Amino acid sequence: MFLQVEGLRKSYTSGEVTTEVLKGVGMELAHGELGVILGPSGSGKSTLLNIIGGIDRGDEGKVTVGGVDISGLSDSQLTDYRRERIGFIFQFYNLIPTLTVGENIEVVAQISQSPLGIDQVLKAVGMLDKKRRFPKELSGGEQQRVSIARAVVKNPALLLCDEPTGALDYSTARDILQLLEHIHKDYGTTILMITHNAAISAMANKVYRVRSGEIVETRINDTVLPAERMEW
Ligand code: ADP
Ligand code: MG
Repeated sequence: MFLQVEGLRKSYTSGEVTTEVLKGVGMELAHGELGVILGPSGSGKSTLLNIIGGIDRGDEGKVTVGGVDISGLSDSQLTDYRRERIGFIFQFYNLIPTLTVGENIEVVAQISQSPLGIDQVLKAVGMLDKKRRFPKELSGGEQQRVSIARAVVKNPALLLCDEPTGALDYSTARDILQLLEHIHKDYGTTILMITHNAAISAMANKVYRVRSGEIVETRINDTVLPAERMEW
């Protein structure tokens, strides 16, 4: 398995109160698969995604990505892992407001020593003509397209999406999900996505339902084949 999570536990302590957010989570994804995580607000979905992406660390358990146990990495190794191998897409885009569209992508391309061109990925998300605009000059859907370009410019081994359509209206959300599906299918990118959108669940290889820090349901869809890894 390309991604394997076993017995993952995580608690947060604030003051005297300790909350167990992940209570022994297990899940897996093969290369080229699309996985969906569903579950109510506060159930631990983002925490799970952040640990897989190296933004946060688990307390116990094992997270293996491409054969590497990331809980065993030092802080600087974990940062390298996140920068070089993981693409992140968030609900509120998180673009740098003082940089243009092109510059937002260039920053990431430089850090990750990307083999891909900035124009190439902007074209892939339909935003090449907005290269010199600033984020505030774009609609929500356009900003999310730029953030998708920024995530894929490093040709990530794993693309993690945390409610990527959560802030968008229905038809824009549908366009963004179609774009992500296109990236999954055409480039064979392995994707793990938190979403409430039922349409993408139907296309997923695996659907995990989380409740109160536990996976309460795993649905494996054998009729959907994993995407094949392609060159850009
Ligand atoms: P979800 O994404 O499913 O809405 P989260 O993973 O964001 O859930 O949060 C799960 C729980 O963990 C929530 O109760 C939240 O308040 C708590 N939590 C998340 N991150 C932190 C943190 N950095 N410090 C303290 N508590 C946190
Ligand atoms: Mg969340």
